[in-house]
Amino acid sequence: MCGIVGYLGSKKAYPILVKGLKRLEYRGYDSAGVALLNGNGIEIYKKEGKVVQMESIVPAEDSLATLGIGHTRWATHGAPSDRNSHPHYSQSKRIAIIHNGIIENYASIKEGLSKRGYTFQSDTDTEVLVNLIEDILIHADVSLAEAVRVALNQVVGAYAIAVIEEGNPDQIVVAKKGSPLVIGVGEGEYFIASDATPFIEYTKQAVYLNEEEVALISLEKGLEIRTIANELKRPYVQELAIEIESIEKGGYDHFMLKEINEQPKSIFDTLRGRLLVNQGTIRLGSLDEYEQKFLTADRIIIVACGTSWHAGLVAEYLIEDLTRIPVEVEYASEFRYRNPIITEKDIVIAVSQSGETADTLSAIKLAKAKGATIFGICNVVGSSIAREAHVGAYTHAGPEIGVASTKAFTAQVTVFITMALSLGRKRGTISEQEFRRLILELDTLPKKVEETLKLDAQSKKIAAAYKDVPNCLFLGRGINFPVALEGALKLKEISYIHAEGYPAAEMKHGPIALIDEDMPTVVIATKTEHYEKVVSNIQEIKARDGKIIAIVNEGDVDVTRIADHVIEVPEVDERLSPLLTTIPLQLISYHIAVMRGCHVDQPRNLAKSVTVE
Ligand code: GLU
Repeated sequence: MCGIVGYLGSKKAYPILVKGLKRLEYRGYDSAGVALLNGNGIEIYKKEGKVVQMESIVPAEDSLATLGIGHTRWATHGAPSDRNSHPHYSQSKRIAIIHNGIIENYASIKEGLSKRGYTFQSDTDTEVLVNLIEDILIHADVSLAEAVRVALNQVVGAYAIAVIEEGNPDQIVVAKKGSPLVIGVGEGEYFIASDATPFIEYTKQAVYLNEEEVALISLEKGLEIRTIANELKRPYVQELAIEIESIEKGGYDHFMLKEINEQPKSIFDTLRGRLLVNQGTIRLGSLDEYEQKFLTADRIIIVACGTSWHAGLVAEYLIEDLTRIPVEVEYASEFRYRNPIITEKDIVIAVSQSGETADTLSAIKLAKAKGATIFGICNVVGSSIAREAHVGAYTHAGPEIGVASTKAFTAQVTVFITMALSLGRKRGTISEQEFRRLILELDTLPKKVEETLKLDAQSKKIAAAYKDVPNCLFLGRGINFPVALEGALKLKEISYIHAEGYPAAEMKHGPIALIDEDMPTVVIATKTEHYEKVVSNIQEIKARDGKIIAIVNEGDVDVTRIADHVIEVPEVDERLSPLLTTIPLQLISYHIAVMRGCHVDQPRNLAKSVTVE
């Protein structure tokens, strides 16, 4: 997690760093800091809290520096505090570092350094690394880039780092392993960042560092990239496709609301070029390329975390139903540590918005080593998971900044729908007629999502009625059970109300004990095979005085008669319904969080892209 940013050129660095940090704040926001290099050496300003709090302590005259690095932290080692904030000086203050990741063997390195007289001002693993670099710099009498390279050979763990050195105002040294880092190449200036959003208005030329690479960025010499094994690499400069508007709020109060409202477009964009209604087909280049593997696969294992794991659960219903290939859905963090049985006939699908989720990345590395075919579903182009996978399909949701995932989830589900339909057709497990009917329905989805978004005002009213409850239950059946899980996750992560998602029938095995007149239950009760059963579950809750908020189809009668509130979504084939039933749950959570005065886009303790294990 955490965001790192840096600037080297002829402009004032400070305003660029601050603006960049604000764009990266979604990645971590428990403290922020900058290091600026000017004639007087390296000045560090850092503070617990958000970037605006850090801004209040920076004296204006220091902003003349044309070289600087900045950091917004998501603490792993040491509580959020001023002294644990980054950047960190080395002991002599000759160098300063920012770091995203974890130095796993920091304790043993620290012990060695302490014996050599180093003392530490913070509890972080990062400060250990900067002193290790300084120690090498002094004793081996090498350049900063070389000292960084040698130091990283001693490090176990993950890092994206940027290091600057007093007396060297024209260089930054960066390195990456396991955490993202991209270099923006401008005219006589360079930018570094965790993702390209801080520099997109200055340059679209970017170099993504590969694993275990160290780059010396110098105004005089340009870019020099080496692996930590000292192999020289040629920088690969690519042109980025993101537009500045896509990373700004565009008139909405919060990124989350903007992103919820972008779903008709993000689903459309994810289908574009894949769903070819006129030709009566779905084209997924990556599936065609690996057709034999998919046709003969023994099973599909989906690995993911958080919301992406919920998209994986939706996919389990879709893929098993439409293709008859057995599917398992695993939390990436559990999968990798339980010595899983994986064979060459398995396909492992990794789902991650950022494509940087550390646990998911490690899970696919493990599966790949055991011979499985790896398919990546990521939103961020060129991300680590996308590069590690053999093949994959991007979600085209555009940058998602709000920490609570919304449009990325529906885009992931959209990719899975196209995969399941295409595979089902190739395997002959779905009739041609059914395939055609479903693709026609799929084509109407962006429009139906747009209609569903008109439920905003109604969702807000419901939010007002329940904003103060301490607990909330979410129930669904079949393919809408994962939607219930996702609804509960949305509510708890942004409003801090305790919420649980359950399969509706499972409620009788425990959660029903919680039902009383203060306990609202959100039930997904759209027209499906299980509709009658869900109606019975609702009756059971009403019989115990529980309050029901039901998501139903337009024109519903049975549930509408008994529920306290209903929200009507358009009718669609059950297998496509998660794309619609999710929307009101997102809206209700959003409004409740706003009414409770919570930081919707940056909920406490969370970060967008979990690049630590
Ligand atoms: N491990 C470092 C710390 O706790 C960096 C954490 C981060 O990636 O924000 O300070």
